[in-house]
This record gives sequence, C-alpha cells and structure tokens, in this order.
Amino acid sequence: MAHTHNLGFPRIGAKRELKFALESYWNGQSSREELKSVGAALRRKHWQEQSALDLTPVGDFAFYDQVLDMSFTLGNLPERVRDFHGDPLDNYFRVARGRSAQPSEAHDHCCHGVAAGEMTKWFDTNYHYIVPEFSSSTAFQLDASRLLEQLAEARAPGVKAKPVIIGPLTYLAIGKTKDGSEKLTLLERLLPVYVELLATLAAQGVEWVQIDEPILVTELDASWQQAFTHAYQVLGASKVKLLLATYFGELWDNLPLLASLPVQGVHIDAINARQEVDALLAQLPPERVLSLGVINGRNIWKTDLNATLDWLEPLAQRLGDRLWIAPSCSLLHVPVDLDSEQQLDGEIKSWLAFARQKLEELQVLASALNQGRAAVKQALAANRAAIEARRHSARVHNQAVKAAIAEINPQLGERNSAYTQRAARQAALLKLPKFPTTTIGSFPQTAAIRQARRRFKAGEIDEATYNAAMRAEIVHSVREQEALGLDVLVHGEAERNDMVEYFGEQLEGYAFSQFGWVQSYGSRCVKPPILYGDISRPKAMTVHWTRFAQALTDKPMKGMLTGPVTLLNWSFVRDDQPRWVSCYQLALAIRAEVLDLEKAGVRVIQIDEAALREGLPLRRSEWQHYLEWAVTSFRISANGVGDATQIHTHMCYSEFNDIIAAIADMDADVITIETSRSDMELLDAFDHFNYPNEIGPGVYDIHSPNIPSEAHIVQLMQKAAERIPAERLWVNPDCGLKTRQWHEVIPALRNMVAAAQKLRETL
Ligand code: GLN
Ligand code: ZN
Repeated sequence: MAHTHNLGFPRIGAKRELKFALESYWNGQSSREELKSVGAALRRKHWQEQSALDLTPVGDFAFYDQVLDMSFTLGNLPERVRDFHGDPLDNYFRVARGRSAQPSEAHDHCCHGVAAGEMTKWFDTNYHYIVPEFSSSTAFQLDASRLLEQLAEARAPGVKAKPVIIGPLTYLAIGKTKDGSEKLTLLERLLPVYVELLATLAAQGVEWVQIDEPILVTELDASWQQAFTHAYQVLGASKVKLLLATYFGELWDNLPLLASLPVQGVHIDAINARQEVDALLAQLPPERVLSLGVINGRNIWKTDLNATLDWLEPLAQRLGDRLWIAPSCSLLHVPVDLDSEQQLDGEIKSWLAFARQKLEELQVLASALNQGRAAVKQALAANRAAIEARRHSARVHNQAVKAAIAEINPQLGERNSAYTQRAARQAALLKLPKFPTTTIGSFPQTAAIRQARRRFKAGEIDEATYNAAMRAEIVHSVREQEALGLDVLVHGEAERNDMVEYFGEQLEGYAFSQFGWVQSYGSRCVKPPILYGDISRPKAMTVHWTRFAQALTDKPMKGMLTGPVTLLNWSFVRDDQPRWVSCYQLALAIRAEVLDLEKAGVRVIQIDEAALREGLPLRRSEWQHYLEWAVTSFRISANGVGDATQIHTHMCYSEFNDIIAAIADMDADVITIETSRSDMELLDAFDHFNYPNEIGPGVYDIHSPNIPSEAHIVQLMQKAAERIPAERLWVNPDCGLKTRQWHEVIPALRNMVAAAQKLRETL
C-alpha cells in the first residue's frame, strides 16, 4: 500500500489572511491574541484540507519564516536580542524585521533598537529566509514549545501529525558566521539539541519526523559529507523514525551518502531527480521507506496523472508499504487554491493546480495505486483530457513563434560594431557631458496614480480618462527632471503596475491570476504571472508612451523595458519546454519592441535585468549553461539596434564577482548597478575584469528615505573613478524611485546633479 504525505502547506492563507493579520498587529491595530488566533485558525483550516493524507505536516506554519522558527527552537538567537524580556513573539519579530529604538525609562537597557536579521533566498526559490547567525561562541539550547503546542493543537482534532524540522547540516549550511569561524565546528554543540528535540517528540508518541536536508542537492565537499554521516549516526539512534527529505534537485554524488544514512526513510524530488530513483533504490537498504515527490511543488500545472502512474505502478508493486508519495517539496512555493479564481480564462484554468488541487491529485494517485485505476476512472479520464487539451491547444502553440525560434542565429545577438566605435557615434549624437546623470526609470507611484489605476480596473473611469491622468503624470515627471537638470530623462513608468505584469498583460502567452499569491518573505507575497504559451507581441507595448514623453523635451528620453530573463525568472513558467526556449521567445518579443522604439526615434533604450542573477542554478557546474542562454536572450533582445542607439541595462544587486564575464558579454553600452551600500567596493569586480563599457554605479540607496548629500555623492564617485576611467562613468540612483515620495526624490536628485557638476569641474 502506498502512503501519502505532504512536506508543507502554504501558510499565508487563500486570501492572504496571515498577511493582513500580521500587518494589522505590527501597526498596532490588533492584539497579539488576535494575531495568534488567526494563526491557529489557519493551521486548523490547512490541516483540515490535508485530512485525506496519511501523514500531515506540523511545524511548517510560521508567523514569519520557518528558518527563523528553527533558530528559536534551537535557541540560536542573535546576540543583540537576547536580553529582551517582553513577549517571545515580539522578540521573534524584532529579529525578523528589526526595530528602531523606542526610548522608555523602564526598558532603557533592553528594548533598544535592533538590526533585522539578514534575509536571503531559500535555495533557488523566490522565498526569503532569515539567515541564522553564528560565531565561534554560539551555544544552542532547546526550546520545543512552538512545536509541542502545534503538535497538541493538531492532535486534538485527530490530525495524523508528522512534525517537520530543518536538519542540522542544512541549518548550518544556510547560516553565516559573523567572525569567520568554521560553521562545521558548531555541529558538536548543535547535535545534542537535535537529540533532545527528537527525544521530546518521541516522548509525545510521535512516530515519524520529517527532517529537511535540501543542502544534499548542492555540491558538498568531503568535510560536509563526513559531517552528514556523523550527524545521522547520532540522530539515527533516536526513538522517532526519521524521514530525511531532499528536494529542488538531483543528488548526484550525494546519492550514495543519502542511501547510507541510518534513517528510516528518505524523500527525493521525483520531478527533478526522477532519473535517480533506480540508482537510489539499488543502494537503499531493503527496509527503508522511499518517499517520492511526484507532484511538482514549484509550479502551477496539473500533473499528468496517467503518465505518473505508468511510472509509479511498477515501483508500487516492488515497494509495497515502503512507498510513500508526496509533492516534490513544500507547497509553500505555490498559491493556495485554484477555486478562488473567478476571472481566469476557463481553458487555461483547466490546466492548472494550486496547493489544494495538488493534494487532490496526490489522492487520486494513491487510490489508483492502492485500489487500481478503475477506482478513480473518472478523475483519471478528466486529467487525461486536460493534459491532452493543453498539449494540443492553439492557445499554447504558435507556429510562427516556433519558426522564429528555429531561425535564431548568432548574428541576431551581435551589434554592428564594437563598443568603442558605437560609443563614439553615440557621443556625437547625444552630446552628453562627462558624468552624465540619469535615473533608473520609475518616479513615485503616488496614491493618485494607484487610485486612478484601481478606478480604471474597476470600470469607474474609462480608458481615455485613465490615459490622460497617466500622461499628466509623465508631463509632471519630465518637467521635474528638466528643472533638476538631469541629462538623460525617463518618462517615469506611471502607467506600470509592475515591471513584469505590465509586459505580461500585453504579450500573448501570459495569464494572470487574482489570488495566486506566493509568500516571498514575512507578510510580503508576489503573484507571478503564468507563462502558458508561445510568446508573441501583438502590437507595440511602450512606444506611444515613450514617444509622448520624448516630444515633451529636447533631452534624450530613455525607453524603458523589462528584459527577457527577468520576465522569465519572475513568472511561473511552462513545464513542456526548456526554460531557455521560453526565454528566447520573450527575447524576440522584446527585440521587436526595441526596434520599434528605435524606429520611433528613441536614442537610448534601457532593458532591465533585475532578476538575471537570481536565476543561477543551485549547482555551480550548471551556471555556465544558464548564463549562456540568459546572456544570449539579452543580446537577442538588445542588439538588433544600430550603432547610434545606446543600450542600457540595469541590475539592482551587488554580487557581480562570479558573473562579471557574463555581464560583460551582454555588451550593453551602459549598465547601472547597485553600489551605494558597498561604498563602491563592488566596482572592484568590474575593475579587475577590465570591464570595457560604461557604468553607472548607484550613488544612493533608494530603499531609504535619507537624502544623500552632494559631498557624499562626490566622494563616492571619486572612489568609483579610482576604479573605472571617469569618461565611462554615469551618475544615478541605485534603483527606480517608485517607492519614494516626490519630496524625497527632488532634493536627492538635486544633490546628485550638483555632485555631477562638481565632478566635471574637478576630475
Ligand atoms: N525600471 C525599473 C524601475 O525603475 C527597474 C526596477 C528594478 O530594477 N527592480 O522601477
Ligand atoms: Zn533595480
């Protein structure tokens, strides 16, 4: 008999209930008890929705982040919050979000301001966790209260609970030492706490514990592999049964290691690592449970249940009770409930499955395996029909697009001339001063802009009224930029809700959900568009706005586009073709837009690739392939223009060292990047590489309301000029200004323009 379980359920709520409860608590509009009761209600509901499973995850709920929960369970609080004596939940939020000082006599020594914990991406997902902090003096101490409370809460209504924890090696691997000490030396201190935790759970009568070690799908050196063996020899002696879970990728040379660990069961991602199942089975001792993640926990497509059964049935025969089936990873990474979608096109909707639907699919698979396919004949037939319909739908397949992809050749990504020749043409035409000033694209998305868009979407105002309001915003931003004396202007992106959605809405092949929210961090969610079909551009998307803006000024107006790699990386993508094919399709659509802008007389075009770096695969050995097609995609989109057209790109992050060759290969005439927080040190990567083209290192942090002083900007640019020749430097903020207010933007840019003046006189 095959058994079913789940690795984790989205906790934000089908209508983002947790988000709103958190924000209302943080704003002081509701009490801690109210927040806790929303949490409890969500857990109850989610367990209820998983009640058909043989084992249900408990402990996957977190008020902010499951990794931060684990840090509290292990007693690994950052030094700076240890002396807090208020409510533990508030202290938890202090680590999660930081807190500015709140002076009060009684709390003089404890409730001072604290810096938030650092946040970073959870493996290759868009979920961000709070990074555990370590030093050579880190000590651990068990606090099992959260897990025990939730366990009791789950069991009261009879939930068959399987506590979920992060394993010790993954916990160490994803944390950071603050003092350069070796993290693995902490294992000896950490293991006793895990032993105690498992004993505590065993004492509660827990049978199985899921222990997540996704670090096993990345490259591990010998010391980490040995640490795995050692750690699980210790933990394997505990009285609970351990299901060691890996996900997000293949095991490669960690496969024999996983098979050798003395645990009672292992889970692997049978979407990404299906080809490893036979090898794993051959090495796994005969009594071990093998859990196969057969439903994709990273996308929103229906599973091909019949094909999955074709593969699973022989395994089920062979394994009997030893076979468990589950989603490939926690369902945290998909939206909650497709049934919420009322406006989604019916045909596209019939191809999709969100978290609840994925668990229904799992149930169908289990019934088919345990009772025969006839028991779920109708469900299987309906699934087959949906899969077939999608496979052949004219909505998905566009022969003209496929033909264009087949015709892509290297010339498509080549500029006519090398950068130095282009630069000369552009200089003659644009007549920019030294240290030209510009911004990254967006100006404040004011309440008035958002309200106009809301009213337009709700049908309260017509398109002409909405467009007139947006044009007025563009006029305003152009006038402000002229008054400031900026050199290359932007239209300000008033008409754009979001840099991906705006383009997705105008491209064929993209769909949008109403409630398809996925937690990004804390209370923040994103709603990735769904890239379902071959991508084409029925008509120009930005040309009339840019042309309108250009007509308002004699200064060059920058056309503003989102690049193909970013469009791809911030969407749910197709599972029926490789990512690079979708990316090339996006690249051709953006290329057409670039050429239309050029034809309309736009001399400077910026193609944002804010998400290029985050698409890097988990394993370094796969980076090269990704970077090749990502850079090719950018080049296809950008490089059809003549020498005189200046291509900009923008990337708002700060780690370029390991991708600098790829960045140079993109061959944008100008790249604007984030540097303000690193004191220009980040330009070292460009310096050492002898990066040949122009760079605009961000001179101030747009995430902060602080107004940078002229002197500070001059000083930063002087540092920049020590690394990059002055004639190749631009002066700009480090990202778009949409989240700022005009009263912050104006003085900041005024100081920036003044600083550029000063630099022209002195350097
Ligand atoms: N052009 C976009 C803007 O200015 C870029 C945003 C981004 O890089 N995230 O808002
Ligand atoms: Zn940016």
